[in-house]
Amino acid sequence: MKSAWIERDAEATVACGAKSGIDRDLALRVYTTRLLGRDPKLVLHGGGNTSLKTRMRDRFGDEVEVLWVKSSGVDMATIEPEGLVAVRLAPMRKLRALNAIDDGELVGIERANLVDPAAPNPSVEMILHAFLPHKFVDHTHATAVLSVIDQPDGEKNCTDIFGGRLAFVPYLMPGFGLAKTAIEVFERALQCEGLILSKHGIVTLGETAREAYERMIEMVSRAEAFIARNRKGVAVAYASRNLAGEAQVAPIVRGACSEKNAAVEGAWRRLILEFRGGEAVLNFVNAKDLDRLAHAGVITPDHTIRTKNWPLILSAPENGKLDDFARAARERACQFAGHYHDYFARHNKRVGGIKHALDPLPRVVLVPGLGLFGLGRTKQDAVVGADIAEAWIEGVSDAEAIGRFESISEADMFDCEYWPLEQAKLGARTELPLAGQIVAVTGAGGAIGAATAKTFAAAGAEVALLDVNFSAAAQQAERIGATALPVACDVTDAESVRTAFDKIVKNFGGVDIAVSNAGAAWQGRIGEVDDDVLRKSFELNFYGHQRVAQAAVKIMLAQGTGGCLLFNISKQAVNPGPNFGPYGIPKAAALALMRQYALDYGSDGIRANAVNADRIRSGLLTPDLIASRAKARGVSEKDYMGGNLLQREVTADDVAQAFLHQALKLKTTADVTTVDGGNIAAAMR
Ligand SMILES: [Zn+2]
Repeated sequence: MKSAWIERDAEATVACGAKSGIDRDLALRVYTTRLLGRDPKLVLHGGGNTSLKTRMRDRFGDEVEVLWVKSSGVDMATIEPEGLVAVRLAPMRKLRALNAIDDGELVGIERANLVDPAAPNPSVEMILHAFLPHKFVDHTHATAVLSVIDQPDGEKNCTDIFGGRLAFVPYLMPGFGLAKTAIEVFERALQCEGLILSKHGIVTLGETAREAYERMIEMVSRAEAFIARNRKGVAVAYASRNLAGEAQVAPIVRGACSEKNAAVEGAWRRLILEFRGGEAVLNFVNAKDLDRLAHAGVITPDHTIRTKNWPLILSAPENGKLDDFARAARERACQFAGHYHDYFARHNKRVGGIKHALDPLPRVVLVPGLGLFGLGRTKQDAVVGADIAEAWIEGVSDAEAIGRFESISEADMFDCEYWPLEQAKLGARTELPLAGQIVAVTGAGGAIGAATAKTFAAAGAEVALLDVNFSAAAQQAERIGATALPVACDVTDAESVRTAFDKIVKNFGGVDIAVSNAGAAWQGRIGEVDDDVLRKSFELNFYGHQRVAQAAVKIMLAQGTGGCLLFNISKQAVNPGPNFGPYGIPKAAALALMRQYALDYGSDGIRANAVNADRIRSGLLTPDLIASRAKARGVSEKDYMGGNLLQREVTADDVAQAFLHQALKLKTTADVTTVDGGNIAAAMR
């Protein structure tokens, strides 16, 4: 590992800060915090923090000594000066005189001493920074350091590798107690350049930003060199080659790792998946003693809130035996939940029964021969889980390559997992109605499809936007957010639909709701229309729905957690327009198709509904067409668009809301919802 300090960049950060009144020390604090945060071998998803001690004038013009420290949950890689908060240092140092302090009281005292009372909470490890005397303090959970210290003889390794330059602090849970012990250790080794926090991480100290940062790089490099010098091979078991791929395996894993919602009949708590199958992951999941390694615990305590303490281990998914794999996966996931309940009950009793159990679902699933899945309530959480799982695999593998990996005790893991200050890192979240669900929308580049994808994403779902025009889908996906997935899909081509759904499954792990919306209009007097025109329309407006529904149902059955099919059938399905047979007839068949799915798959918990919409501004009803139709009828465009019983224009958003309503109503199937402002001739009868 090399120092990434570039003098020119450092000075540019200082110059940029100066423009908004940021002083040199603080600007350089931001600069090296970013350098640390950008290297995943040093810092992953909030696993680290930095600080600076300096003087500043408060609101009253008085000069005070302050600690600038990273605020809790801020990403170090992209931190700005606002990501650091200033706390009055003197009262923080006084806390050392206390023997112990309640977490809530500590946070209260910290908040009462913020220079800006509206600032966010400082890092949970702030008090450790406050007690140490150095101007710059850097703390990371560098993977290589964890590999050498997460050992039965971690302290000896620390002496051998760092030669007394880092003092060794025995394991204590992060917080006030650890900070007190750390400063006592430091005061017995005043010349040290930093600390090793046993089974947790490393702290480096400096009088300048560069000194603290480059000490971190030097110490982590020493750990890396030690691992490289002392590495032994790790035994890998034979892995069968005839294995199913992740697209077949993911829905089974996802279904097994779902939980029935006991309070709402038909509802499930589901998770989103992120797959990883690189060489290091494969070597680990194929290891001979995978069971021991995987149950050895976390590499640093704060990982437990993202990955839980242990992963779920499944068997290798052999081709042609996926039913056996699915049965075993469900059994093992059930055992995992049982063990988690026992673990919670055991330790909750120890702490006086004051904790509330988190859900018992795994956050990391290991599949021999294939790789690992990170699981989370959102795609972003799943990615974080998978990143941490990869770092964990690297940490454990390297620890085993030079000795024997040893984690903290189960009780210590519980105390961290259920520490309110750790849970606060995840942020207060309002559970949205479709959290954990995956929605595929066809025709998502168009008005109704785009509005539907946006509406479902706002309701908490992860969305895949399918369209024959990929760039239209990509444009809409970008508007929704980073995890929205655009997919090229021609619903008139079976292979294209298969490929598109494989892509969705590989990206998210499955599908829960399919909104089959893609369509186009053809006209012609039915007795004279060319067969080709009718067939073309059937390919898109009937078979398109069938291909999409079939692909979605296959995945839903593999998950075994129900699902929902939603069809855009248009008013033509029930109220044909003159010379519009080529469009209306396949739409009428699509209505029958919806009813057939409702009938055939109700017992699997899969619902099927349709929306019968009319006169929506879209790719079918363009501004030119609206103008010409209005003119032909001798009415204004506004009156033409509002030509219904309620005299209100119906929008793509209204259709999207109807689809959302049908998705949320767990006891509604074979339903047609009319969204047309009132048209008695098109009313369902
Ligand atoms: Zn830490």
